[in-house]
Amino acid sequence: MLKPDSVEKGNIGAILEKVTASGFRIVAMKLTQLTKADAEAFYAVHNERPFFGELVNYMTRGPIVAAILEKENAVQDFRTLIGATNPAEAAEGTIRNMFAESISQNAVHGSDSDENAGIEGAFHFSEREMF
Ligand code: ATP
Ligand code: MG
Repeated sequence: MLKPDSVEKGNIGAILEKVTASGFRIVAMKLTQLTKADAEAFYAVHNERPFFGELVNYMTRGPIVAAILEKENAVQDFRTLIGATNPAEAAEGTIRNMFAESISQNAVHGSDSDENAGIEGAFHFSEREMF
């Protein structure tokens, strides 16, 4: 997902350029907005954390770009491309280093396992939207 800050700042094109230039194929993509229930479900693993309320407010405040990406070793390679959760610790040239402003507003989401990538893809897209 390109998170609401990326859409607000007009960074959709620049971020997607880096994604495709890094060898990812776009299988599915849309501009959409998460409801509160969507964001709470999506980040349910963090629901006991002190930042959970802030995270849900942020993720629902405006549109996001949801996408399914395909590549050999996609999960690990995408996390390398986006960089550390905290942009202050994200390596030079990573998406979060270039486009994120803080640990709470960090521009992009990447799945953390193949299993979760499958669950998250199905959350956003129907079969007929996947190519
Ligand atoms: P994502 O799951 O969005 O790809 P991530 O896997 O790098 O990010 P997680 O630990 O899963 O990081 O945290 C999910 C999201 O919660 C972060 O991307 C960030 O938006 C927010 N977050 C994480 N830690 C903090 C924190 N300490 N303070 C505020 N927000 C945080
Ligand atoms: Mg995560």
